[in-house]
Amino acid sequence: GLSDRLQATMQKIRGKGKVTEADIKTMMREVRLALLEADVNFKVVKEFVKTVSDRAIGSDVMQSLTPGQQIIKIVQEELTTLMGSENTQINMSKKPPTVVMMVGLQGAGKTTTAGKLALLMRKKYNKKPLLVACDIYRPAAIQQLQTVGKQIDIPVFTLGDQVSPKEITERALQYAKEEHLDFVIIDTAGRLHIDEALMNELVEVKEVSKPDEIMLVVDSMTGQDAVNVAESFDNQLNITGVTLTKLDGDTRGGAALSIRSVTQKPIKFVGMSEKMDGLEPFHPERMASRILGMGDVLSLIEKAQSQVDESKAKELEQKMKTSSFTFDDFLEQLEQVKALGPLDELLKMIPGANKMKGLNNVNMNAKQIDHVQAIIRSMTKEERNNPAIINVSRKKRIAKGSGRSLSEVNKLIKQFEEMKKMMKQFTGMKKGKKGRNPFQ
Ligand code: GDP
Ligand code: MG
Repeated sequence: GLSDRLQATMQKIRGKGKVTEADIKTMMREVRLALLEADVNFKVVKEFVKTVSDRAIGSDVMQSLTPGQQIIKIVQEELTTLMGSENTQINMSKKPPTVVMMVGLQGAGKTTTAGKLALLMRKKYNKKPLLVACDIYRPAAIQQLQTVGKQIDIPVFTLGDQVSPKEITERALQYAKEEHLDFVIIDTAGRLHIDEALMNELVEVKEVSKPDEIMLVVDSMTGQDAVNVAESFDNQLNITGVTLTKLDGDTRGGAALSIRSVTQKPIKFVGMSEKMDGLEPFHPERMASRILGMGDVLSLIEKAQSQVDESKAKELEQKMKTSSFTFDDFLEQLEQVKALGPLDELLKMIPGANKMKGLNNVNMNAKQIDHVQAIIRSMTKEERNNPAIINVSRKKRIAKGSGRSLSEVNKLIKQFEEMKKMMKQFTGMKKGKKGRNPFQ
């Protein structure tokens, strides 16, 4: 995924110290490749990468301690923005019935989605839907819709396959009025490719039904082709929304981004299974993560924002409060700091530590951290959990075992106890009213 790639690129760049504009370009190449791999249209990718580059170069990413993560965050944000708003609703008619026309290529999932939508509308909005069988070409298409209708107990209007879709639609709308059905879903025919005769037929159905919603159904597996499909349908019919089906497969969903940026029409639903309950509202943020191929992107972003893992920090705070912060915890912190990169970030990792006077000038370099780790590792489990028991003879043993001087061992233990004390004070203060803030 993208995050792995950016991390790898960052590893290389970090060795050089400062992040330059050229480094950002290198990272952008990874972003570009990731998007192309996710089947996002190349024109869309080009434009997108430019937007992100401008933001990255113009912002404080380059000064950041974690430029890779900052860039992922920008990419995620821009992707989410590009894919539009959350939870876009079906356009409802003020005067019933609301009419939704399903359009799209053959096999995209129109019939299935028609059933899913009917069920959803009845469940969520108490609507009384009617399914209309306008695919008079595909063998057994009408039967398929009837099967769907039976499954979810929703009426299906059909006049067989010898009547034109235009006439079927007119009669269906009449029927809906008579039966007080307030949500009409027209299931139309599709072709394997865009075709003039089909488009003309769809335009006719549109004219007689004046739909509140023209829902383009697109198979998310179609990849690059999705853009052309969406463009043609939109040009001819002026679609009002998109449903992206088969996202339960292993597609990365790049089509979503392409369709949205080419048509500017909202993606309203995603199909997550073949079953009738498998229709979900579209979540741009989730889709952005999926396109970038990183399940852990959100946690990465959180890390970039706070530099500390939230749950770890909570756990740590709890430990500090109860004075159970041990040398083992300290060791773990040091490992995290090393993994994060710049070592003088140590104190920032520890909640509140940066606010403590006296610790501000603790200035550790990589070697010193290694020394500290060596000393801690030479302690027994008991000693790590309870430094109070470390007497002189134990100190001597630890010094010998770690290859450090006795005074270094002394200093570390003293600093550690000092740190614990201050942490305890800080966490006490932070709790507010019941804390020990002497100024309250
Ligand atoms: P239509 O030709 O556009 O009407 O497409 P259909 O509704 O007949 O669907 C074509 C195939 O895709 C069927 O086998 C459906 O079960 C399947 N399908 C539709 N939507 C989804 C989905 O969201 N997930 C999965 N896994 N299959 C789907
Ligand atoms: Mg169909």
